Amino acid sequence: GASTDAARKIFDDIEAQFQLGQDALIKITEQFLEDFRLGLSEYNQPMAMIPTFVTGVPDGSETGTFLALDLGGTNLRVCEVTLLGNHEFRLKQQKYKVSETLKTGEASALFDYLADSVDAFLTEFSSAVGSPTVTDIDNPFEPTPPAVPLGLTFSFPVEQTALNQGKILTWTKGFSAKNAIGNDVVQLLQDAFDRKHLHVRCVALVNDTVGTLLSRAYTAGSCILGAIFGTGTNGAYVERVENITKLGDSPARAQGGLMIVNTEWGAFNNTRTTLPTTPYDNKLDRESINPRKQAFEKFISGMYLGEITRNILLSLIDAAPRSLLFNGRSSTPLNTHYGLDTAVVSEIEEAWESGRTDRIAKVNGTVPQWQSAHFTEVNALPPQDVDRLERIRGILIQRLELPAEDVSLCDAATVRWAASLVANRAARLSGTAIAAVLVQTGNATLGGGTSEPSENIIVGVDGSLIQHYPNFQTRLRASLQSLVGEAVEKRVEIDLAKDGSGAGAALCALQAIKQG
Ligand code: ADP
Repeated sequence: GASTDAARKIFDDIEAQFQLGQDALIKITEQFLEDFRLGLSEYNQPMAMIPTFVTGVPDGSETGTFLALDLGGTNLRVCEVTLLGNHEFRLKQQKYKVSETLKTGEASALFDYLADSVDAFLTEFSSAVGSPTVTDIDNPFEPTPPAVPLGLTFSFPVEQTALNQGKILTWTKGFSAKNAIGNDVVQLLQDAFDRKHLHVRCVALVNDTVGTLLSRAYTAGSCILGAIFGTGTNGAYVERVENITKLGDSPARAQGGLMIVNTEWGAFNNTRTTLPTTPYDNKLDRESINPRKQAFEKFISGMYLGEITRNILLSLIDAAPRSLLFNGRSSTPLNTHYGLDTAVVSEIEEAWESGRTDRIAKVNGTVPQWQSAHFTEVNALPPQDVDRLERIRGILIQRLELPAEDVSLCDAATVRWAASLVANRAARLSGTAIAAVLVQTGNATLGGGTSEPSENIIVGVDGSLIQHYPNFQTRLRASLQSLVGEAVEKRVEIDLAKDGSGAGAALCALQAIKQG
C-alpha cells in the first residue's frame, strides 16, 4: 500500500546516498593525487604529506633490542622488541588504558603517565639489557651506562624536523590535551622521563603508519605503503626525495634517494568538496570534538562507523508518519553519543556473513544487492537466512538493550542493511587511498592499463577494522581493482603488519642510532 511505498522510498533514498560508483571512485582518486602533489610542494596544505626523515626501509637483517612506546588510539602500549636479523622479531608488550581525563587534561599529566607506564614496564617485564647498544644498568662497574633507547610511535599529526624531533600540529581521535600543540613531542616525553629520573632516551619519533611500513618491510623484505584502518585511518609510503619539493635546498633534499612520507590522509576532503556527504555524516561531524577536521577518517574508521550507523537507525526510529524501526522505540545505547560501537556493527555483519554461501566476494559487479534482505522481503527469505536474522535480533536485544517485543526480524534485516551500507562505503573509499598511492609511486595507472608487475607490491596494514570487520578487505579490493585494473590489483599483497607499531618504532630507533 501507500505506506509501504513511502517506507521503501525512505530506504531507497538512504541506500542511494551511500553508493559510490566507478565514476565517483575515479574522481576521488584524482583528487587524492592532486592533494598529494600540493602537500609535497607546500606546507600547510589540506594533505600534510609529512616528510619523516626515514630514508630507507629495512630488509630483515637488522638486529638489536629496543623499547617502544605507542600512543595513538584506544590503548597505550609499551614494548620491548628484539630484532633477530632473520625477518623475525620477539616482542614483549603491555597495554595501559588512557582515561578520558588524561586525553583531555593537561599535556604534562598525559606525558607523566606515559613515563610512569614505561617505568612500570621496565620494573615488571623488561630485560632491556641484551642489546649491543644497551649496557647492563645494574652493573656497578659501569657508572654512567648509556640510556635505554626508545622509539616513540605517536599517531597524531606532527611536523617532523628530524628523526627525533617534531611539533604536534593537532590532536585527532578524541584527544585534546592542553598545552601540547606547537610543542616538540619528543621533548615533552624526554622531560617526563627526566622528571622521574628514568634512564631512557627517546631517540626516534615515528607515526604508526611509518612503523607499519617498516615492520612489514622487515618481515616481507620490502614494502611500499603502511596503512592503518583502526580507531582512525592514515597511510605512509615511500616517495622519491626529488618529488618532495617543499624540502627546498635542505640537506635531506640534496641527499636524494627515498624518504617515507606520512600522508595524514585522514584529513582528505576537509574542504568538503569531494566526498558525497549524507545528513548522517553531517550530524556526526557537528557533534564531534573536531568539526570539519579529519573528514576522510570520519567516513572510514572504527571510531566513526558505529556512530554513522547509529545516526541512520535513529532517523528510521523517528521516521514519520510511521516509525520504520523497533516500533519507534529507542534505548540508552541508541540515545548515547558513540553508543553503538563499531565492534557491535562488526558482530552484526559477522552473524549475517557466517554460513552464507553467496558471499559478497562472489557477487559480480561493484554494487552488492542489499535489497535481497530488505524489510519487505523478510517473509520470503529461505530458512537459513531467517536463522541469521534471528542471531542478529539476539545481538540487538542484548547490545542495544531493547525489549525483545520491539525487535522484529525485519528490524534485524534493516540494521544489517544499514551497517553494510556504511562499511561498504568505508571499504571502497579505503580502496581509493591505496589506489592513489599505487599511482603516485608509479606502480599503477588510474583506470587500469598498467601491465602485470613482475614482483608483488607489498602493502602493510594494521587496525581492528581491516583485521576483523567482515569483508572489509574484499570490498576494498573490489574498489581497488576497478581503479587500477585486475593485472595490478592481483599482485598487491595486503597483509597485516603484526605488532607493526612496536617493531616499527624499534626499527626507527635503530635507524636513528645509525644516523648518529
Ligand atoms: P587503535 O587504532 O586505537 O590502535 P584498533 O586497531 O584496535 O586500535 O582499533 C580500535 C577501533 O576498532 C575501535 O574504534 C573499535 O570500535 C573498532 N573495533 C574493535 N573491534 C572491532 C571489530 N571486531 N570489528 C571492527 N571494528 C572493531
